[in-house]
Order: sequence, then C-alpha cells, then structure tokens
Amino acid sequence: MNTASRDPHAAAPLRLFNSLTRSIAPFAPIEDDHARVYSCGPTVYNYAHLGNLRAYVFTDTLRRTLLWKGMDVTHIINITDVGHLTSDADAGDDKMEAAARASAKSIWDIAAHYTEAFKSNIADLNILPPSEWTVATDYVPQMIAFAQKIAPDHCYELDSGLYFDSTTVPDYGALAGGRDDAAHARIDPVSGKRNPSDFAIWRKSPANEQRQMEWDSPWGKGAPGWHLECSVMSQARLGQPFDIHTGGIDHREIHHPNEIAQNQAFQACCGDGGAAAGFTGARWWMHNNFLVDRGGKMSKSKGGFTTLFSLIDAGLHPLAYRLLCLGAHYRSELEFSAEGVAAALTRLKRLVMGIDALKARAEGVTWQSPRLDYLRANLHPKLVPLLEQFDAAISDDLMTPRALPLLEEAIAIKKVPADEKLCLIAAFDAALGLNLLTLSRADLRLTPKDAQVTPDEIEADLERRKTARAEKDFSLSDDIRDSLNARGVDVMDGDPLGWDWRLTLA
Ligand code: AMP
Ligand code: ZN
Repeated sequence: MNTASRDPHAAAPLRLFNSLTRSIAPFAPIEDDHARVYSCGPTVYNYAHLGNLRAYVFTDTLRRTLLWKGMDVTHIINITDVGHLTSDADAGDDKMEAAARASAKSIWDIAAHYTEAFKSNIADLNILPPSEWTVATDYVPQMIAFAQKIAPDHCYELDSGLYFDSTTVPDYGALAGGRDDAAHARIDPVSGKRNPSDFAIWRKSPANEQRQMEWDSPWGKGAPGWHLECSVMSQARLGQPFDIHTGGIDHREIHHPNEIAQNQAFQACCGDGGAAAGFTGARWWMHNNFLVDRGGKMSKSKGGFTTLFSLIDAGLHPLAYRLLCLGAHYRSELEFSAEGVAAALTRLKRLVMGIDALKARAEGVTWQSPRLDYLRANLHPKLVPLLEQFDAAISDDLMTPRALPLLEEAIAIKKVPADEKLCLIAAFDAALGLNLLTLSRADLRLTPKDAQVTPDEIEADLERRKTARAEKDFSLSDDIRDSLNARGVDVMDGDPLGWDWRLTLA
C-alpha cells in the first residue's frame, strides 16, 4: 500500500495550447476551481458528420481533464438553428432555410429532428451532456439588444442588413494571425461593405420574400448573424471574460475573430470598465484540427459524409470512433478510414477482454467507484508511476495518444492485485470516457443493421455444429459452417482473441 499524503491528481500543472498566442501555457480558471467553457455547437440543418463529432470528443476530453484536475466545469454548447449561411462570408442562403425548402418541411421540424439526432450521437460517444444547451432562436431579443448597444460606434446599415465595421476594434483578426483583407475579398461578394472583413450582425429579409424564421428589429424584419449568436449566448450564460472557448480550426479564421470583435465592441461601450484592447471575451481559444478523408476535409456541404449513424449501421460500436479520435492529438489532422476505425475497434475489444479478465479475478471488490481518496490511500506502489504518467500526459495539452497505452500497461503489469488495477483503469477512464468498465465483449461484436441472421441464431447453429463435431459428423458440421458463411458469418475456429464468429462487413 502506498500511503503517500500528496494528491497524485495535482502532480502535473495543466498546460493548454491557446490559439490567441499560438503557444502552450499553464491554465488556471478565473474563478477558483471552477472553469467556464463555451463550445460552438452544430448547425442543425443536417446530420453531424464524423468531423463535427471530433470537435465534441475534443471538448469532452477537455472537460473531463478539467474535472480530473479537480475543477467544477460549467460547459455550454449552443445549437445553431438560425443564421449560419451557406458561405462563411455573408453570402448565400441561411443553411436552415435552404434545408427546409429542399425537404418541404418546416424549419422548426428540421431543427428539432437534427438536434435530437445530434444529442443521440453525443450520448453514443459517451460525451458528457453540457451543463446547458443554448438554442440560438431562444436568444433573439438578447441579440437585438446587444446589437443595439454596439451599433452606434461599430456598425453601419446597408439594404441587406446591419454590418460590423471591423476597423472599429483594435487588432481585428489577431486570432487568425492578423487581418487578411485579400482572403476576405476573394470570398465576399456583398456589395457596399466598407471593408472586406466587415460582417453582418443582422440580415434583413429580402423584400417580397417571406422567410420561415424572421423577427422584427430596429433594422427591419430579419435574422441575426451567426457570429452575433455565440457572443450573446456565451455572455448570457457564462459572463465575460470566461475561461475557454472552443471550436474546430475553421472557426479560428472568421467566426471566432468576428465574435472577438463583437465582444471587444461590447466591452468598450458597456463592459466592466476594463480596456477593450486585448479583451477577447474568453481567456483561452482552443481549436481542434480536422478529420479528413481521402477527399480532404470532411464537410456537410460536400455531401457523401460519414455519420456516426452510418458507422453504427455497419455494425461498429460508436466508442471505437471515440478511441480513434483519442489516438490522435486534437491539434493534429486525423485521417478517417474504415481500416482505422476497425483497428480502433480491435484495440477496444482487447482492452475490454483484459478488463473482463481482471473483473473475474476481482470479484466482490468495490472497484466500480474509484474515489480519489481511495486511490490515494490504496494504490499499489507499482501503479503510482502509471498514474503519474497518465496525469502528465493529459495535463500536457490533452496528450491522449500518450495516455492511452497506459491502459494496456495497467492491464499487463505483473504482481498487482486485479482490484487495484481496476481502480486505476476506472480513474483513467473518467478522463478518457471509453466506458471501459461497463462495455462487454458482446457489445463490441460487429452487428450490421442489415445482417441476415441474429446472434441468437448464430449461437444456436454453432451449438448444433459443436454437437455434430463431437459425434464426428463432419459433413453436417461443414454444412452448418457453409450455411453461416452464406449469411455473412465467419466461423472463427481457434481465434486467438477467443471469438467464435464474426459478421463480415458489407
Ligand atoms: P457546424 O455544424 O458546421 O457549425 O460545425 C460544428 C463543429 O464541427 C465546429 O466546431 C466545426 O469547426 C467543426 N468541424 C467541422 N468540420 C470538421 C472536420 N472535418 N473535422 C473536425 N471538426 C470539424
Ligand atoms: Zn460559435
């Protein structure tokens, strides 16, 4: 028994990469032991693709790491159900209006359907639900009030809407690495704007066009700009400045610089008296890199994207995708492939098998709830270095690829009681979120939706085959195997991982 009095969870200082400075620095929340985090949420005009979901596996890893370090976390994720245009500049249609027209459904039905689908993806990936989901259309009056306050010093009106003048705040675009008017000019066909990087904070409904979502405002009927939504919802729920704002790396270029510009404008007119220069609304801005496939960045607008639903339908357990994400650092690109996710599933199976074997030896021990005080008081001395390495890895800007192999090491380490290993694995899993102690081997079997045979039927056939073999009726045994093969079942005699059968992927 190790009776060391220090808290092993406090061993390594938490260091995080801040996109504002493009560097890693020690992180401490503004309020003692309480971190406030805002994550840009999905635009609910379609199913989230696996790339979108990588963004939320990242924020969940961040949140679990903050919890691991002993902080309380208030985490807000918004639902964008209005305002996100088909182009990142102020051009094109509202994505929600376009989806509604294409499907002849009401925009509210579309939003409700894809919001539920997104929440089900979040649950399947064992992502902790946020403290609150903020829905953009619930905050329109606050958005109008915010816009009214900053408009006199920072905005101008065109026929198409109310625009933010990006030259009215210091350091516009610093988060993106500086103002890039040439890039904005390339993608921005809106005429009348004073500067290419100016953006709409309120878009007026086109004359003679009835939109499904529109509100009265001092600038006429219309809808809020997407950037305004996140400034307003983060301020309303977390106060500003809060600790960490997250999103995918695409948001570092336009959406987040525009949020920062609005936050600065608000600070200048109506803030707490602090300087607007250097005020960004959040102390840390963190961005995950892209999930890519052979065709490049996965995106909804390209179509043909892979959803978590399509993985599940193919028979793969969704936590294999979570493990695939954790196997790469969040700031690296990750290439998605069927082989990659299949390899992650195999790794997950091996982990679960190792843990099953530990459970069999640890029967009756209360390993299910590894409290930190229990860990401190009871951790076997041989496990302490693993705990420290794990803490050091996730404290080093969420270095999950370095943390994961410690699971395998903990399972394999010799001469340590099984219950103590399980305690340590449960503690690791609190940060990794792989549900390792509750997943079973059966959960991880490939179970394609369109399989022609159920696991019970397969087991029954295999039982008959066993009897045939025991009776040396090899012809019947071969017939049963062939009939299983014909229905997409591989019979795996002598499989080293102990599986008797598997369904083949279509
Ligand atoms: P959206 O629903 O398009 O607003 O995106 C939701 C989140 O997914 C945002 O944080 C995006 O930055 C992020 N995202 C979009 N595409 C990818 C991708 N291919 N890989 C990783 N994150 C992405
Ligand atoms: Zn946002």
